[in-house]
Amino acid sequence: MGKPYDQLIEKLSRCRANDADWKNARTWSLVYNAGDDVTKLLKEAYTMYLSENALNPMAFPSLKKFETEVVAMTADLFHGVEAVGNMTSGGTESILLAVKTARDRARAMGKGNAGMEILLPLSAHPAFMKAAHYFDLTPVHIPLRDDFRADVDAARKLINDKTALMVGSAPNFPYGVVDPIADLSAIAMERGIPFHVDACVGGFILPFLKELGHDIPDFDFKLPGVTSISADLHKYGYAAKGASVVIYRNKEIRKRQFYAWADWPGGIYASPTMTGSRGGGAIAAAWAVMNYLGREGYLRITRATMETAKELMEGIKAISGLHILGRPDMTLIAFGSDKFNIFMVGDFLEGRGWQLDRIQRPPALHLVVTVSHAKILGQFLKDLAEGAAKIAATGAAQPTGMAAMYGMIGTIPDRAAAHNFILDFLGDIYEHKE
Ligand SMILES: *Cc1c(COP(=O)(O)O)cnc(C)c1O
Repeated sequence: MGKPYDQLIEKLSRCRANDADWKNARTWSLVYNAGDDVTKLLKEAYTMYLSENALNPMAFPSLKKFETEVVAMTADLFHGVEAVGNMTSGGTESILLAVKTARDRARAMGKGNAGMEILLPLSAHPAFMKAAHYFDLTPVHIPLRDDFRADVDAARKLINDKTALMVGSAPNFPYGVVDPIADLSAIAMERGIPFHVDACVGGFILPFLKELGHDIPDFDFKLPGVTSISADLHKYGYAAKGASVVIYRNKEIRKRQFYAWADWPGGIYASPTMTGSRGGGAIAAAWAVMNYLGREGYLRITRATMETAKELMEGIKAISGLHILGRPDMTLIAFGSDKFNIFMVGDFLEGRGWQLDRIQRPPALHLVVTVSHAKILGQFLKDLAEGAAKIAATGAAQPTGMAAMYGMIGTIPDRAAAHNFILDFLGDIYEHKE
């Protein structure tokens, strides 16, 4: 039996009660809130194109127009004179596509699939490991220097004839620092190997920071060795979830991203990305927000976000026992402690209603700062100072909760067992419960 409309709407609303409170800026990742006017625009644009399907650009020329314009604006931002690209469902899909495209190129050049390698910094997003797993490439990690950036000298030694793609992050997610993209991409170019820049989190903030006079190194198509870039609109682009861009230096490189089967009995099938059907809502909403904010809007929000991040860093440094990892280039901050168990501080903060990520090497807490955090900055720092003081005072108490779990998983010597434990944990989480 179906349920009444009003009852369902009421239930949907009630189910949110235990969710992370992003509206009051209690989340330090997952949600990028640029304000009520932006959210309203996203909702309107998204619902207007709720049913449309970008799988067939001929049927919905509106969506094709939005997608190509979003990509063109992004290409412009990244100095891509001949750059082309597509919108995807998120950073992971953008990365999967860039890796697949490079793999197919290497394969066409006669590199055997089994032996092919992808060379990536240890700090690169797990989506690259996922891609290596899906597409049967061997991941080879570039170690990090003391400043948490990829070690260029190590990369030079690791690159070889089996390398199908090399990767750098602008910035990496854990530490928020930009890899030496100019040096890394130059090495790749010398060897005729494609180079992907993961600007998923930085793509819609670094160019504006640079324009505001911050010292941001080149990371885009200005560098001749960079062949592809991923940038998430649903992060600092402030679009609705399900929107990212993958972009290539030119059309020739992108060609291997596409999939076509000319002989399907059901018709000639062609698809630009990994998914078949593609919801129109996320595409329309991304187009709307980019046009609504414009360069000025992004500059204004970027300036305010960076100011908040700076204040946060100063506040954290002023708390006894805490330190920031490395020197963040933008608005991602990881902080740890040499004095006490930082994960226990994380649990304390969660008890106060804050939702934040954890870093494991070295143990640290992680903040993705947005403009919406300006209004809760004081409260957060107060809670953090209190938590740090409390954990410092309890000394060597046994960690419990998430702190215990993180500590346990991080230190199991048998990494295959740790891997398996996580898979089982995930299976349990998705167990259906009434
Ligand atoms: C978020 C992120 C990704 C993955 O994006 P999803 O949208 O979560 O799939 C990849 N790389 C970096 C640096 C990121 O911050």
